[in-house]
Amino acid sequence: MFIFLSIRTSAVGLAFTALVLGAAAPALALSGPECLRQAYPEFWAPQVNAAADQTLVSVTGQRFEFDEHKDHLPHAPLLNQADLKTQMAQPYAAGFPATPPLRNQDPGRMRAQPFFLALYGATPTEVQRHLVAVPWAPNGRSLAFTRLNGAAQALERVGLTLAQEESTAAYVRQPAGSFYWRGIAGAPHLSVHAFGAAVDFTLPHGLGRYWQWSGCTEEGACPYPAAVLKDPALQRVVTVFEQEGFIWGGKWAHFDTVHFEYRPELVGPACSR
Ligand SMILES: [Zn+2]
Repeated sequence: MFIFLSIRTSAVGLAFTALVLGAAAPALALSGPECLRQAYPEFWAPQVNAAADQTLVSVTGQRFEFDEHKDHLPHAPLLNQADLKTQMAQPYAAGFPATPPLRNQDPGRMRAQPFFLALYGATPTEVQRHLVAVPWAPNGRSLAFTRLNGAAQALERVGLTLAQEESTAAYVRQPAGSFYWRGIAGAPHLSVHAFGAAVDFTLPHGLGRYWQWSGCTEEGACPYPAAVLKDPALQRVVTVFEQEGFIWGGKWAHFDTVHFEYRPELVGPACSR
């Protein structure tokens, strides 16, 4: 899998991959700025030469440099200072089988906070203005979620699909929090829950695992609970979420297996690299 991912970074690699697999050549992967533009179309202003432009401009005129030259920063400081390039740097591999993540392999966990504050709201009041009650079919209740960028509609579709089978419905009947304005324990930046774009569930069979409950630190190596990748019903739940633009915290070295967040810039068909 490592070789497969590494050679996909060039057009030659793509052609070679298609040859090896005997498949039709896949569409070329989009650049990081293009993935961001496609994932959040309501947020960005139209740009004349969008494909080549490394500066992204919101409809309100806020400018975001894709690359703020943070590459030299080590893992822990990057968590609090990530730019958009950092946010897009680690490929999120959708689907299963999945292998335990390597040390500090946390695709999607590095987030450019100024972008999220502008995207969803910089205060609880601003965020709440965009929240809607999403019908959650597995339990017949609802979840508070942002309606921006198609997030609420995507979540509703996930619920409708998971409710069709008892094996998957049972895993997501007990939500453990969607919107709450709070930081991440031990870090100065906000959780995606603060933006109403993430949801947790109480998982059965000891599948709910969190790196901080396992005695791990941000900097140290952390033993990954590999059994969470083998549970068929959880695999199905994760796959349905991924197909609707969500990433799963179980694919992070700093694992958070109860956590799903709406990140279409990472799991779109041309952006999952
Ligand atoms: Zn969470």
